[in-house]
Formats: sequence, C-alpha cells, structure tokens
Amino acid sequence: MNRRPQFLSKSKLMSARQCPKRLYLEIHRPDLVRFSAAAEFAFAVGDSVGEVARDIYGSADSELIPYAGGLGHALRKSRRLISEGPRFPIFEATLQHDGVLVRIDALLPYRDRWQIVEVKASTTTKEDHLYDCAIQCWVFRGLGYPLQECALAHVDNRFVYEGSGDYNGLLIEEDITEEVDRMADLVPAWVSDARKVARGREPDIDVGTQCFSPHECPFVSHCWPMDTEFPLLNLGGGVRKDKLAALVADGVSDVRDIPAQDLNDRQRRIQKVCRDGKAELLPAAADFVASLEFPRYYLDFETIMPAVPVFAGTRPYETLPVQWSCHYEADRDSLDHAEFLDLSGDPPMRRLAESLIRALGHSGPVLTYSPYEERMINGLIERFPDLAEALRGILKRLTDLLPIVRENYYHPAMQGSWSIKAVLPTIGSDLDYKKLEEIQDGTQASAAYLEAINPATPAPRKAELKKRLLDYCRQDTLAMVHVLRFLATA
Ligand code: SF4
Repeated sequence: MNRRPQFLSKSKLMSARQCPKRLYLEIHRPDLVRFSAAAEFAFAVGDSVGEVARDIYGSADSELIPYAGGLGHALRKSRRLISEGPRFPIFEATLQHDGVLVRIDALLPYRDRWQIVEVKASTTTKEDHLYDCAIQCWVFRGLGYPLQECALAHVDNRFVYEGSGDYNGLLIEEDITEEVDRMADLVPAWVSDARKVARGREPDIDVGTQCFSPHECPFVSHCWPMDTEFPLLNLGGGVRKDKLAALVADGVSDVRDIPAQDLNDRQRRIQKVCRDGKAELLPAAADFVASLEFPRYYLDFETIMPAVPVFAGTRPYETLPVQWSCHYEADRDSLDHAEFLDLSGDPPMRRLAESLIRALGHSGPVLTYSPYEERMINGLIERFPDLAEALRGILKRLTDLLPIVRENYYHPAMQGSWSIKAVLPTIGSDLDYKKLEEIQDGTQASAAYLEAINPATPAPRKAELKKRLLDYCRQDTLAMVHVLRFLATA
C-alpha cells in the first residue's frame, strides 16, 4: 500500500467529489486504473484546446511553467513570478496551499491584480467546473495573492475558423467569480474529507451512476462485477446504469441471472441467447439479403470532429467526413473496391463528395452499418448545394444493415454489442480488427488522420499512417460484405 501523498492535487479532490472510493483507489491502488479509449481521447482533446488557449491569451513575455524540471522547481518559479506582481500571463502556474496542489491554466494580469482562467474543452459550463475553479481560487487567495476575477473559458461552438492559425474567438469566457466565491467556504471541508479518505481504509461504496458521471471512473472494471461470463455491464439493449447498479446491490452479477421483469424485449433475447449458449439467426435475415438487388455497394466514412478546427470555414466539433471506403458487387460472383483519402492537408470534403458520387453510380442499394453515413451525406448536401441532387440520389439508396442485424442476429460472445467489431468474430470471418496495426477504431483513425495532415509529420510516418488508414477503412466495408453473406445463410 502506498504512503499518504504529500499533497492532494486538485484532480484528486475532484475525484473525491465524484466518489471517495475513487480517490482512495487512485492513491493506494493506482495499478487498477483503466482509462477507456474515450477518456484518453478526451484528455488529448483537452490538451489541444489548452495549447490554443496559450496562443490566445499569451503575449511575447508570457511564461509557461514547465513541469519537467520537477514539482519543487515549478512551485518556486510560480511563487517568484507571481510575487513580482501582475506583469504578463503565466501558464500552468503551480501552487500549493495547506497541502493542496493546483496548476492554473492561465493567470492573467488584471490591472494590479490577477485573473484566473480555467480552460475547458466542453462547449458549456458544467457544475464540476465550478468546483474545480473554487479549489484553485481557494489556493490562490490562501497564499495571499490578489484575485480580481475567475473565469471559465470554454469552446464556443458558433465560432467559425477563418484559417491562418487565427483562433481568436474559439473560446468564450464566462465570469464565474460569484459562483466560486459562494463555494469558497466549502473548500476546507472538501479538503478535510478527502484527507480522511486518503488516510483511512477503503470506503465501502456501492457502484452507481456516479461511476459514469460526470466522467467515467477509471475503476469501473475493478468495482463492477466483471469476473463472470456475461457481466451485467455488458447487457446492452439500452439499459440504464442505475438499474444495473440496483441489480448489483441485489447480488446479481451475470446477465443470465437478471429477473425477467427487469428486462425489455431485446434484453430478454440477449438473456435467452446467453442462457442457451448458442447464437440466434432468424430466417428474416436471409429474406432481407435476397431482397437486395445488384449492384450492391458497401459504404463507410471516416470522420474527424476536432475541438480546434483544422479547416477554414468549419466550426469546433463539426463532424467532417475525410475518408471513404466502398466495396461493391456488380453481381453475385464479383467483389471490387474503391476508396478516397486525401492527406494533402487541404479541406478534402469537396473532393470526397465528388469522388463518392462518381464511385456509387446511379443504382443499387448502398449499404451502411449505422445511420452515420446518412448524417454525413446530409452535411455534404448542406455544404455543397450544387452537388445536392446527386447526393440526394445516394441518400435514397442508403440501406442501414445495423437494424437488420440487431433484429435478426445475436451471439453470446457479442456481449451486448451489435457493433461490427463485436459481430465479426462470431460469424466465422477471417477478418480481425486486432490484427490491424495502430488503427483499430474510429477514434484512432481520426487521431491518425489529424497527425498525417500535420505539416510537422515526417514523410515516412505520413506514408505509414496513410497505409493504416486505408487498411482500416477498407476492413470496415469488407466486414459488411462478410456480415451480409453470413445473414444470407439464415
Ligand atoms: S467505479 Fe464507481 S464505486 Fe468504484 S471508485 Fe469509481 S465511482 Fe466509486
């Protein structure tokens, strides 16, 4: 067991607010931390917004306090710069008061006082942001420094990037001084409670909705019952987490043991298949396949949704298609492939749309595996009205395979998911996402695309990323071909 840490960081205090057990485990069992891919992605998004914030708020004489030189150095340098008075922006000022450690995103001169600016990648102010800022202000004021205002800077999703690296306007500032002041008296109690948890025994806390809100806790796989063949968390079928937590409290840990009255129709199907231990494939699946004429097209987009826009004319978090793959069968015995990927760094959406129109011809079903492609094509229609007629023609031919698979197929190994990555290993396909190098899901594909178009990426790395992106997207549409052929066997 680890010793009690010298400081409680702001993030530890925030963990304690989510769940005291989370704080305890972070301190004493860091080996159990398992961040989901979505959480890792959210950290990276936060970093990208933080970097731009330093450009927006910075000036020629700004100081960024490096952490690499060690905590002592960061604390000393921060103290010295702040003590010299508000003269220029300081980023990542590192301060401790009464054993609480904070790093302040931006500390800006405000006449003869300071303004604290906390930068968030979200598009609104959330309750936990206020707690976060209250802790920072408590430390800052506790050290005797003059604070004029505390502001939260979050992403303004109405901002339109005009290019040339000009991100002024990306962040919108909200003065939260009053809210934070109202919380100031509460901070010492939070600190004292957290200290008790840090020093004490592991808190006995039941799993609940707090495990997923405001952030997914990295100890979910530790606290939730997972050592069973069909863990409750993998029930799927749109189950609410509070319902699952109530079942755990009743001693249920496996999908097969859930009382029938607690399940909806889809979940009852899942439970039956888990209990039977064998897959269910309904005859209607084959009828659906037989109804599809040739040529058949199988389409998948890869997209990006950067918090910090990369293409002029786009907004933060706007979903932009940047790549497509299409397998097509002219008849029962043929299979061909076409694809689009442009890593020049220029906005690819126009060329993507034109190449798609050319590749998809004029007739035949265009199969997708989610309603996502429909949304993307509607976005292209809005962006390029002159292509609207041709794109609307494609929209009319879209056929989403996902609801067909969901209604007609389930295998116990799918563990509550009908994603193509969950279905594929259960249908005897030789395709395996785990064999793909580096890019095995859409989030990784998005990150790879953004890395590839970055002018600082060396050419050999760019070539490597290009191959991996093409391999990944091609596999997505080939997987759909395999799924359709499997459904035909029903
Ligand atoms: S998984 Fe849930 S119960 Fe466990 S530490 Fe996290 S929030 Fe607390």
